[in-house]
Amino acid sequence: MGFIRIPTEQLSNILPFPAEAQPPRNALLRSLPEDELARLFPLLDRVPLVPRRVLQHAGLPIEHLFFIEEGLVSVLAKVDDRNAAEVGLIGRDGVVGGTVLLGGEISDLTHFVQIGGSALRLSVEDVNRLAPELPGLTQALKGYLHVSLMQSSQSAACSLRHALLPRLARWLLMAHDRSDLDRLPVTQDLLARSLGVRRPTVSCAFKDLEQRGIFAKDRGVIRIKDRPSLERIACRCYRLMCAQADKWELSKAKRKVLIALSAFCAAAEVELLAG
Ligand SMILES: [Zn+2]
Repeated sequence: MGFIRIPTEQLSNILPFPAEAQPPRNALLRSLPEDELARLFPLLDRVPLVPRRVLQHAGLPIEHLFFIEEGLVSVLAKVDDRNAAEVGLIGRDGVVGGTVLLGGEISDLTHFVQIGGSALRLSVEDVNRLAPELPGLTQALKGYLHVSLMQSSQSAACSLRHALLPRLARWLLMAHDRSDLDRLPVTQDLLARSLGVRRPTVSCAFKDLEQRGIFAKDRGVIRIKDRPSLERIACRCYRLMCAQADKWELSKAKRKVLIALSAFCAAAEVELLAG
């Protein structure tokens, strides 16, 4: 539901990439028309995502977009001088820094690496230069921002109205979907911070899920053993968030058809003029 898991080895059969290059795993990049991806590819730098590092600080200019390939990034909003609350999660489905497309040159939010991995980095300069020529990229970024806004709103409503256990189940499912990892290296401290509760509070909910055999803990790593039960426990927000992403997937498919149609019409027009 919502996110389709594709093994890395299958991706090389889908995209037109040079044999020596690793095809992107990021869903936004994979959604682009082939010609746009071919133009972007030489401009992308693969960079590591180091756990507990800040990828983008609030209040600083956005210099790069990071298309997440592996790992998980928390989006944090400051609540006072010492604390911040999580308002979103970005994984292989998304990008950090996409708000530049809406004219936001300074980031209002902090992006913190929860789970390490890698990203494909693109400079804002290149985005601004190429955006008018790459309609697929522009549409993909705007669509992603739209879905992110809806999901942040849902997440805020969830924090206000739902109990901790269903929220914890939702968070684990979202992290599982976005990171593609069956073993999640998240500590109870990080979970408490993400869910905006104290550590002893999250420990009780955590123990409850562990005793039901839904996951096992092994030296700071959570291994999800029973995902269907986790889905049953999660609040309705998880399904709503998946439905929001699904709606965008559907419109993406429609957009691909429209882009292909307009390219065909443009080519026919050129032939007519040449004839
Ligand atoms: Zn909820």
